[in-house]
Amino acid sequence: MRKTLDIVIPVYNEADCIDELFKRLLMLRTKMQNELEVKFIFVNDGSSDKSENMLEEYSNKYPFARLINFSRNFGHEIAVIAGLDNSNADYTAIIDADLQDPPEVIEEMYKKIKEGWQIAYGKRTKRKAESFFKKFTAFAFYRLLNSLCSAEFPTDTGNFRLITADVRNAITSLREHKRFFRGMSVWVGFKSVPVYYDREGRFAGQTHYTLKSMIKLALNGIYEMSTAPITLINLLGTILFLASLVLLITKNYIIGSIGFVGSLQIFAIGVIGSYITRIYEESRNRPLYIIDKKFNF
Ligand code: UDP
Ligand code: MG
Repeated sequence: MRKTLDIVIPVYNEADCIDELFKRLLMLRTKMQNELEVKFIFVNDGSSDKSENMLEEYSNKYPFARLINFSRNFGHEIAVIAGLDNSNADYTAIIDADLQDPPEVIEEMYKKIKEGWQIAYGKRTKRKAESFFKKFTAFAFYRLLNSLCSAEFPTDTGNFRLITADVRNAITSLREHKRFFRGMSVWVGFKSVPVYYDREGRFAGQTHYTLKSMIKLALNGIYEMSTAPITLINLLGTILFLASLVLLITKNYIIGSIGFVGSLQIFAIGVIGSYITRIYEESRNRPLYIIDKKFNF
């Protein structure tokens, strides 16, 4: 029996990309079909253009083109997890609809999976046709995240990746609402390997990530991956406390005592923050560990 591969594609107002995307996916499917039975899972994230109609037509014509239509726009991260929830293949790939991630790279990712890797993630080398601003913010964000969190976070990666069913089941077991797929993909562990590719420009249309939604995603990433903001407050409290002690010793009583009271308040906020961090960790209800394999059970 051939192994199965699902390709998850989140779609939000991509009418101008869909025909070309489908063509390229179809080509990939044909190329891989000796080895793999490939199905597509389009997740239409409440598009208001012709995307829905187009995808419905494709799914009527091709039984392997599955379609999930959201009732409204829930956002990119949620569209990805809905695709994963509905995938039951041996392997699942996640790819953007705008052809910035070339579908052909999935073949290379599959080679890595056959070698025994469990996550083959796309790592961008060049990023064509993207603004300096986008490249710079992405560059800075991944490095910031890496310095803040304990897990090694691969830089210059997006959602584009191929994962095994084990990895998919681990990721779909994380049910929090504020999601950051790339981070979860690191948190669950497993053996992962980069596959380098040139990130193309969009085939058509405009990015849906405005500055506001980029900041939102970045904050989700930081809050999901680390408790650094609270650590920083604690650090600030300590520095201010020590500074005010120095001021008091050097007889700067007024500024010293203002600083002393201020640092106590920051300390108090830090302590409360640490409890809230713990409540947050518990409320996410994540599994305590993820098992890769068991032997002799
Ligand atoms: N997308 C989505 N829901 C949204 C926004 C985007 O499903 O609310 C999809 C979009 O159609 C694309 C992918 O997520 O397939 C990435 O979006 P985009 O290309 O706009 O982001 P960028 O590549 O600029 O970071
Ligand atoms: Mg894009």
